[in-house]
Amino acid sequence: MARVVVVGGGLAGMASAARLAKLGHEVTLCEAGDRLGGALAPVERDGFAWDGGAASTLLPAVLRDLFRKTGRPLERELELVPLDPVREHRFADGSTLALPGGSRAAQIAAFDRLGPGLGPAWAAYVASYADDWELVRRDYAERPYDKASADPAAVRLLRGRRSLAERAATLPDPRLRAVALHPAHAQGQDPARVPAWLGVWSYLEQRLGAATVPGGFSAVATALGTRLTTRGVEVWLGTRVSDVVVAGGRARGVLTNVGEFSADLVVVAADPRRLPSLARQVRRTTPAAAPDVVHLGLAGDLGADLAHETVLHGSPDLLLHRGGTAPEGSSVLTVAAWGLAPGTDLLDRLAERGVDVRDRLVTRVDRSPAEVGAGGSPYGLAWEGRATVARRLGPRTPVEGLYAAGAHAAPGAGVPFAGLSAALVAQVVGPA
Ligand SMILES: Cc1cc2nc3c(=O)[nH]c(=O)nc-3n(C[C@H](O)[C@H](O)[C@H](O)COP(=O)(O)OP(=O)(O)OC[C@H]3O[C@@H](n4cnc5c(N)ncnc54)[C@H](O)[C@@H]3O)c2cc1C
Repeated sequence: MARVVVVGGGLAGMASAARLAKLGHEVTLCEAGDRLGGALAPVERDGFAWDGGAASTLLPAVLRDLFRKTGRPLERELELVPLDPVREHRFADGSTLALPGGSRAAQIAAFDRLGPGLGPAWAAYVASYADDWELVRRDYAERPYDKASADPAAVRLLRGRRSLAERAATLPDPRLRAVALHPAHAQGQDPARVPAWLGVWSYLEQRLGAATVPGGFSAVATALGTRLTTRGVEVWLGTRVSDVVVAGGRARGVLTNVGEFSADLVVVAADPRRLPSLARQVRRTTPAAAPDVVHLGLAGDLGADLAHETVLHGSPDLLLHRGGTAPEGSSVLTVAAWGLAPGTDLLDRLAERGVDVRDRLVTRVDRSPAEVGAGGSPYGLAWEGRATVARRLGPRTPVEGLYAAGAHAAPGAGVPFAGLSAALVAQVVGPA
């Protein structure tokens, strides 16, 4: 049995802690904030509660696997429901697409309604990712990437120079290209610097759909907090790790504002660029940009006017989601946008795009990009071409006994990849 300290109580830190505790290790988790959840924690005001980060997830199997491998299955803790549609896209020309998930035939029909022949064109684009996903899944997402032992086809794929923007440029219609690039835009990434294989998002969405939790996705963080208690993980809130203690070439513990914790193994599930003993290893990486976000509490029910998630395409795209809870007779809406000019009110931009909720406003919480990114690095690292694969840490690091999980660690950001990164850490640490 090893004594493990996990740094960071976001999804990746909680998932790593729960998995390692289940494997028989003695786990302590240090979280700088006063609650668990990181980007998954809710934002609350005046009786409203909004999902502060993720409001849905692709690859719900990742969460299912996490709950099943650490105790009671997810279905016993949470209601995870498929999103239908996964998202509505409203394009600048006035046309709309309610994007179905989990069905090739339904996607073909939906794209065909945009224009004859567009359904098969989209289906062919998505199908071109089937082999890529198999390679990525086997050699990058579900086991630590090691180019010496990986399938040579996976190595070629991950080293490919082609960008997502270039691959999407083969699509015959600007609206299809906008849908193809959306996953990159929605993570603050520049599609011209995102490797082409990351289009596997579209493939996963079509094959498996997306899922959410009625009443707010932040319930995942609450359920994981309970799971940590069940697994006997010692949680220290308000405990900011200032560095990892490294002696004799291996991790020996962490330094925090409340003192030193000694450990046999340390898992960093927070931004490694902020920890001096790791900063050098990741000096050639850049954090992905965070958006401006406004959480709105509105009088009345939004009803069927808006899907759970809606993208208002334009400059910039506005991303809307309805995750959270509101007092009786009112509703929640969250709007996010990247690259907003200073002084711009997102509520006005929303009105210009046809969603005018200004006269229904009860309360609002504005979060600047600095505030959204303050707790950690919720979108991980910016993709800077193919080199980013090698520049990311995780699950192993160059320091013995020191592991990395989370959005900044391989294989990437978002609930599925943050969850998978914790599974990779558990895999390389192994049972006690
Ligand atoms: C607005 C927004 C919308 C999003 N929407 C989606 C979505 O719809 N679907 C999706 O899949 N993903 C979405 N994401 C991304 C997803 O939420 C994140 O990728 C994921 O939750 C990151 O989890 P994490 O554990 O890696 O990092 P974080 O959640 O950032 O957790 C890091 C934790 O570490 C703590 N910490 C940091 N430094 C220290 C330290 N020195 N010592 C101790 N603790 C420390 C922080 O306080 C934080 O709690 C969204 C993110 C945001 C911000």
